[in-house]
Amino acid sequence: MARGNTWRNWGRNQGCSPAAVELPASELEVVEAVGRARAAGQTVKVVGAGHSFTDIACTDGRLLHLDRLDRVVSVDRDARSATVEGGIPLWKLNEELAQRGLALPNLGDIDRQSIAGAISTATHGGGIRFGGLAAFVIGLELVTADGQLLRCSADEEPEVFSCARVSLGALGVITKVTLQCEPAFRLHSIEKPRTLDSLVHDLDDIVDANEHIDCYWFPHTDVATVKVANRTDAPVRVKSGWKRWRDETLLPNYAFGALCAVGRRRPDRVPANMQLVAGGIGRTELVDVSHRVLCSRRLVRFVEMEYSIPRADLTKALLQVRDFIEAERLRIDFPIELRVAAADDIPLSTAHGRETGYLAVHLSSGTPPSAIERYFRGVETIMNELEGRPHWGKLHFQDASTLAPRYRAWDRFQAVRSRLDPDGRFRNAYLDRVLGSPV
Ligand SMILES: Cc1cc2nc3c(=O)[nH]c(=O)nc-3n(C[C@H](O)[C@H](O)[C@H](O)COP(=O)(O)OP(=O)(O)OC[C@H]3O[C@@H](n4cnc5c(N)ncnc54)[C@H](O)[C@@H]3O)c2cc1C
Repeated sequence: MARGNTWRNWGRNQGCSPAAVELPASELEVVEAVGRARAAGQTVKVVGAGHSFTDIACTDGRLLHLDRLDRVVSVDRDARSATVEGGIPLWKLNEELAQRGLALPNLGDIDRQSIAGAISTATHGGGIRFGGLAAFVIGLELVTADGQLLRCSADEEPEVFSCARVSLGALGVITKVTLQCEPAFRLHSIEKPRTLDSLVHDLDDIVDANEHIDCYWFPHTDVATVKVANRTDAPVRVKSGWKRWRDETLLPNYAFGALCAVGRRRPDRVPANMQLVAGGIGRTELVDVSHRVLCSRRLVRFVEMEYSIPRADLTKALLQVRDFIEAERLRIDFPIELRVAAADDIPLSTAHGRETGYLAVHLSSGTPPSAIERYFRGVETIMNELEGRPHWGKLHFQDASTLAPRYRAWDRFQAVRSRLDPDGRFRNAYLDRVLGSPV
């Protein structure tokens, strides 16, 4: 959200005052904006939908919003691919693809991000047969620091392509993204509660048996939920209007948000609140088009940290986090999320080179910073022992010295960064911390 020259992210935990804010409406205007920054000796930062929790999108230089670069450029029905502008939000992309009989193979749990912002931080969903959104990218166009338009794919500038799919915004302004889609499909989804013990015992089987999964454990309780979804030819079957609003908006958003507010004032009540929430969870079964099953509304604001670890360590990590919460008598008002993804070959992808388990911890916005830090640092210590790689868009305390050894292709990314942005036109404080200065 930009007001005048101040900007804040969705989580309301990051903000900045850029020297200038621009809304280019064409590639040429992006080139001109980068040129103006160069002439003024300013850095450039593109912001997508501001849905990162880190200061990855903050700048005191020139901030570019790509909200006006939000169109579908072309669709190749035979190849099932679509080229879209970098600023298109996922909700619009999903609708436009559906109108053309196409869909992305997998999605994260919301659809508010821009496509370029989502791929830039390795945004992912859940499902061991799928990589994150960046794994669906087959071509990109970037405006680089020298104002050139650079096109890349597996055949054209392949090393740039490899790195630019997850670039943290460090390589240039992504103006176009070509995505490998698949024919539009419906998903049959079942979400139901189970005990934490049974989740830990069965998780591997659940992961192998289902295309899409998303699991939560509710701290201070023995309750977990597992949502699985699989492709189906069955007709759409959704809840009636009132029941849908109650189960997708009222209970998980307004009622849950009210309990979080109570818990922030009275932390001693948090365990009882969690038990109330967990006790009310029932079984939900539906059939709907893929993006409506995979993406939900998130109206309760929160802050989050998420770590990628080897898939085999996911349940061990969850139990260690539970023990940490109990040993430290923490009061945690948000569930812990577990997901998985396939290995990929993208240098800075959190799933690079290994089947991945993702463990995400959250606290509601408004939680005192000291409580956030105590919880997140404790969880990070556990993740450090498991070769954890933090989500680039979610809170963490790592820097380039701790991150480099966790990415086998780190040097390849740095070489491309040095080539495309030797003067650090696209740097900001976050990139200086996690990547170091360009050399
Ligand atoms: C409610 C909520 C739910 C979420 N769910 C998930 C989830 O299910 N899975 C998951 O993995 N993550 C999830 N996230 C994290 C989110 O997907 C990432 O932080 C994502 O990067 C946000 O996209 P954005 O468009 O808001 O990008 P921003 O946060 O605005 O920017 C992120 C980075 O992308 C860069 N960037 C943006 N546009 C461009 C461009 N055109 N060219 C070059 N660089 C660019 C920015 O410079 C910045 O470095 C969630 C976040 C929230 C708040």
